[in-house]
Amino acid sequence: MAENDVVVIAERVVGSHPDVTFELLGKAKEIASALGGEVHCLVVGSPEGHECLGAADHLHLVEGEHLWPYNPHAWESAISALLSQLKPRLVLASTGTVGIDLCGALAAQSGSMLASYVVDLSVEGASLMAVAQLYGGKLMAECDLGEGPAFVTAIPGSFAGHAARVDGVADATSHSHDGADARMRHVALTEPEKTGVDITSEELLVSVGRGIGSQSNIDLAQELAEVLGAGLSASRPVIDQGWLPKAHQVGKSGKKVKPKIYLALGISGAPEHLEGMRQAELIIACNTDATAPIFEVAHYGTTADLFDLVPEILDLIGG
Ligand SMILES: Cc1cc2nc3c(=O)[nH]c(=O)nc-3n(C[C@H](O)[C@H](O)[C@H](O)COP(=O)(O)OP(=O)(O)OC[C@H]3O[C@@H](n4cnc5c(N)ncnc54)[C@H](O)[C@@H]3O)c2cc1C
Repeated sequence: MAENDVVVIAERVVGSHPDVTFELLGKAKEIASALGGEVHCLVVGSPEGHECLGAADHLHLVEGEHLWPYNPHAWESAISALLSQLKPRLVLASTGTVGIDLCGALAAQSGSMLASYVVDLSVEGASLMAVAQLYGGKLMAECDLGEGPAFVTAIPGSFAGHAARVDGVADATSHSHDGADARMRHVALTEPEKTGVDITSEELLVSVGRGIGSQSNIDLAQELAEVLGAGLSASRPVIDQGWLPKAHQVGKSGKKVKPKIYLALGISGAPEHLEGMRQAELIIACNTDATAPIFEVAHYGTTADLFDLVPEILDLIGG
């Protein structure tokens, strides 16, 4: 039944589909199956590289002269037109470029509810229930979205995505929408400076916080990272002080990482930092303050001084 369908707006605005699109598809499958509906994925702009979106029951490829490169206003009118045909119960997007740009306007146009910064979503009885972050994660709000229709933008990294990366598209439909009514025009795409550092692809991260004390102590963490074959990442104060370049920053205004092991040295665990690393498979924290919030997410922890601990590990493993 169309009124129980779930729509995912693919987040890609450049390059290939990002992880968050698969995370949304995985969650959409779960919700649609609980509601007895189907999953539709909207891919706007570029018709290439969508074969990996096979987790959706239906793929809608929307092309038009003004839709690529990404143009928020043109996308808004294209998606609005398609949603008025599909009439889904739930539209899922990411709390990223596309979701932030479009979902407020789309929800207002259709008189739907909108929950942003969502980290969990489920069906309870007849209702859709969302858990959303407020004040950068200092408060969590439970939102009853009732029977919808509703828009939800989820924080990247909130849902598992691996299983939803499925090759082979079952049912694809092409749509055209020129987007010529858009008031915006694409001028240029400015890509972030390439640094050669990609902390998001590391399986093991040694991460330093303000507790590292000074730039000269970064060498100690760097040595540990090298001996362990790990990447080196950091909390924001370390970046703001200029002790490491921005490409190393984990968190709300940095990178979201999901390594197998995250070793947090002298990091307190502020919500803005946790937002970037709580999906790590194993979190080990070293912090002299036993009440530091990092211990609430850590699987293992020690209140040792990092300047005692790190040389000890280096000695043990022959660094
Ligand atoms: C809009 C916004 C966006 C933000 N984005 C980010 C972001 O992307 N990433 C981010 O990290 N933060 C971000 N922040 C900042 C965030 O709120 C925190 O201020 C920051 O994460 C704190 O960093 P920290 O844990 O390194 O420092 P602190 O909170 O100062 O913690 C340092 C910790 O080190 C411990 N320590 C000190 N000495 C030692 C020692 N010798 N051995 C062991 N432990 C020791 C202390 O007990 C303390 O817990 C953002 C804030 C805002 C408002």
